[in-house]
Amino acid sequence: MAHLLPHHLQSGALAAEGDGRRNAAALLGQHAGDPAHPGHGLRFRPQAPGHGGAGAGSGAGKIAARPAAPVTPVADAVSALKEEIAHCRRCPLHCAATQAVPGEGPADAAIMLVGEQPGDAEDLAGRPFVGPAGQLLDRALAEAGLDRDRLYLTNAVKHFKYEPRGKRRIHQKPNAGEVQSCKWWLNREIALVRPRLIVALGATAAGALSGRAVSVTKERGPMSFGEAQGFVTVHPSFLLRLPDESAREREYRNFVSDLGRVRKE
Ligand code: SF4
Repeated sequence: MAHLLPHHLQSGALAAEGDGRRNAAALLGQHAGDPAHPGHGLRFRPQAPGHGGAGAGSGAGKIAARPAAPVTPVADAVSALKEEIAHCRRCPLHCAATQAVPGEGPADAAIMLVGEQPGDAEDLAGRPFVGPAGQLLDRALAEAGLDRDRLYLTNAVKHFKYEPRGKRRIHQKPNAGEVQSCKWWLNREIALVRPRLIVALGATAAGALSGRAVSVTKERGPMSFGEAQGFVTVHPSFLLRLPDESAREREYRNFVSDLGRVRKE
């Protein structure tokens, strides 16, 4: 199934996803050719310039830069913040990563999605949610009626934490200290964008936003993050790690349902 993925996401680039690698291919191709899901199959395909997803640009498999956003004082401030994040040395995670991966999206986005940390593909591209989990998120957003280009996507931690294993880089969960160090940047993104709703994708993001341990299983749904209205759901990489196909399909449907609720919040 690896042939369904772009070249740069094959071999070592998918290693961080572990068993999710096979599941990614399965989920990515799950509805390809299914007339009930036109255009929503997750086979890798080049996308039209202007879409933020993986594959935009001149060649299949290349991750293109987003088009320039309108310049406003807030957009300027967000750009300046990205530059600051690029030089951050607040914790050791910058040492082994290729680059920091700041958030991206409109500076006036009404909804902010927060994941855990960049993965292998994101670390190389310098953009959030462009790997297998990001492509699955794209598909789920589209099915839920949410336009990725109108959302601000970021992570609780801005540098990729991994363990080298041969040519592979295996994803490592950031610890509490690293999440706390990077909360500085997440807080500043929130303060600048001022989203109407913040969606935590997974327990790490929910913990960073709420300041306490969160069980996604028990607390999935609306949640307050300080003064901000929030919503907790799973991280798309969780779906890729599920070993059972029927469970993956069921959980994917639950995820789309959550995003549908987010759209209506
Ligand atoms: S992970 Fe966050 S706090 Fe740590 S160096 Fe990177 S940007 Fe700074």
